[in-house]
Amino acid sequence: MKVPLLDLKQQLTSLREDILQAVTRVIDSTTYILGPEVASLEQEVADYCGVENGVGVSSGTDALLVSLMALGVGPGDQVLTTPYSFFATMGVVLRLGATPVFVDIDPVSFNIDPIAMEEALSRDHEKKIKAILPVHLYGQCADMAAIMKLAKQYDLPVIEDAAQAIGAECPMNGERGGSNVQWKKAGSMGLAGCFSFFPSKNLGGIGDGGMVVTHDSAYAEKIRILLNHGASPKYYHGQVGGNFRLDPIQAAVLRIKLAHLDQWHRARRENAGRYNRLFAETDLVQDDFLVLPQAVYLTKKQAEGTMNGAGDNFHIYNQYVLRVTRRDALMDWLRSQDIGCEVYYPLALHQQKCLGANFPLLSFPQAEKAAAETLALPIYPELTADMQTYVVEKIAEFYRK
Ligand SMILES: *Cc1c(COP(=O)(O)O)cnc(C)c1O
Repeated sequence: MKVPLLDLKQQLTSLREDILQAVTRVIDSTTYILGPEVASLEQEVADYCGVENGVGVSSGTDALLVSLMALGVGPGDQVLTTPYSFFATMGVVLRLGATPVFVDIDPVSFNIDPIAMEEALSRDHEKKIKAILPVHLYGQCADMAAIMKLAKQYDLPVIEDAAQAIGAECPMNGERGGSNVQWKKAGSMGLAGCFSFFPSKNLGGIGDGGMVVTHDSAYAEKIRILLNHGASPKYYHGQVGGNFRLDPIQAAVLRIKLAHLDQWHRARRENAGRYNRLFAETDLVQDDFLVLPQAVYLTKKQAEGTMNGAGDNFHIYNQYVLRVTRRDALMDWLRSQDIGCEVYYPLALHQQKCLGANFPLLSFPQAEKAAAETLALPIYPELTADMQTYVVEKIAEFYRK
């Protein structure tokens, strides 16, 4: 049996006619830059997230870049972030001439550890940290209740890297310490939420695309100006921006896909549940060969009685990531058995060569351990139960042979 890591063909087959029609509509309109498709998607994504403003941009990377540019982050500034993410999270900070300040991750959720954040913030006597950039890794929100509390205490803006987490939910504590918890969508808690429409994300285009969502209309307007070379009005440049515009063909396709997003999240969540059950039957967890991904807010949501079965979508499983022993050998074995798998990510950000000699002494043990031990399995919505059984069988065979 062949089990690819991701298979976009089935999704395409079911939506192909709609997509072709939408693309044709854009072509026939001759409006090829911004226009009504982009404006409609912006409104629809903003509504989906419960946020006032959406601003379409050229990619998830550019969403992060322009969000930091709109804050005026530049040389000499620092941005507090996680060392365990896709490169773009750090890349945008470095491109602006600023410096990432890393703190280690929580080993259970793989997301930034708020206790370590507080230590870093309390050490920042010169107030060089200008923004906080948490990542909602694999489709599960970082501990935003704690992060927003710190942001308030230190008066810092939060830019959420929600590239992998559109539609994920996060429990935010109410005024009096958690009695009236509210569930908020990824991207809607900080000053800005940054989404990527890279084809492998849960909401993926037919090319690159991204969006910034924000409650702050003045900030949204700043971003709109920056994504058009800083022009306001046209040809009058009060600042230097770039071309970070979202393509209307992508917007038209994404509008079709957005209508199916919650259903795809549900299918991914069901697949995650099936893996969990299949692995439980193998005793591989009990025998310390692997650790299953933890849905950290599950018990909270259950305790509050706000779970509504498969419709519950606090985790969107952009990736289903195990922690395993003998990771590289297991990966080779699975690939030899026609099972797609991938390491997200083999190096922590502070270990990347492009940092040169600037960060030689840094060490973030949890991030480094995660980079050495994690393995992502196929989890896409159309994955079948038979395929999952095969994947788990092959993993069990590897450890028992
Ligand atoms: C995908 C991703 C990005 C970048 O998005 P692009 O659309 O590929 O530019 C940024 N951060 C994280 C965490 C991502 O997963």
